[in-house]
Amino acid sequence: MTDRSLGPIPLPERGQRATGSFTFADDPSLAKYRWPFLAIGGQQSGATFLVTAGIHAAEYTGIEAAIRLGRTLDPTAVRGTIVVIPLLNRPGFYERSIYTNPEDGDNLNRLFPGRSDGTWGERFAHHLLTEIVKNVDYAIDLHAGDLIEDLVPFVIYREVGDPKRDETIRQMANAYGARWAVKTAPTGERPGTLFAVAAQSGVAAMLAESGGRGLLVEEDVIRHVRGVTNILRAVGILAGTPEPVAPARVVKSFDWLRSPAEGMFHCRVSVDQLVKKDDVVGELTDLVGEPLATITAPVGGVVLFTVTSPAIKKDGLLLAVGAL
Ligand SMILES: [Zn+2]
Repeated sequence: MTDRSLGPIPLPERGQRATGSFTFADDPSLAKYRWPFLAIGGQQSGATFLVTAGIHAAEYTGIEAAIRLGRTLDPTAVRGTIVVIPLLNRPGFYERSIYTNPEDGDNLNRLFPGRSDGTWGERFAHHLLTEIVKNVDYAIDLHAGDLIEDLVPFVIYREVGDPKRDETIRQMANAYGARWAVKTAPTGERPGTLFAVAAQSGVAAMLAESGGRGLLVEEDVIRHVRGVTNILRAVGILAGTPEPVAPARVVKSFDWLRSPAEGMFHCRVSVDQLVKKDDVVGELTDLVGEPLATITAPVGGVVLFTVTSPAIKKDGLLLAVGAL
């Protein structure tokens, strides 16, 4: 270890790797947890790249891919520093929390920039952002479909109006190798996400989705590992030529369908399926099988994710269509 650090994370000497755990010591509500990290000190000096995962604690392919990257990237091939935090939602992991964290029941990926005097999740978001994320040059947040979600791999990013940073973010998103991309509007409907607030705070940041349903499918893990590796090469942190991959196709909107009533959801589409506007995508019945509602596609496009559990509350999420 050196006296170099990224906030509470101690960084290794050049050419070395370090693993360990850190906490946010000046906030007692956070300090009862320790977060795992892996850090790679490149042989040569350069920029800092942050890989995060597990902000949704049951999105295991992202967590596993982050750990694997931290253990296998070769420090002698790195210019700069790579820091991996494979599990942001530390309270939720052994609880198998879906969407939220058990400390306050909030979705951590809606709370950025957070507050130092807020709820547990707001405090966590504030400390993570101000002490770690704002001090890096590049960041990728790895996700999957949650425990009850299936998805086709896609990337999400937002432009921030700074031509140079926007170009870097697009370059990163296209180097990941996903077929689909969601570009959120500047006034996106889901505020408070880590990648978007990071991008607005000066970091070239994006999000990638691969896998889901609580399964560690090797192909889904490898997609994340390859995608991040390719991004590291594209931005010059890792030696080697990036693999040529087709740029992602940007969908026109990201329409989340919610249920008009509680009931059993019978999904009639699969992820990556193309649908036309008004196509039936699912049916909702009550608990004795009576039809409650027919769910139709609000736009034509591609099904990006579906909820795989049939038990749906009123206003519960059903699936999402990316408009084409
Ligand atoms: Zn997620």
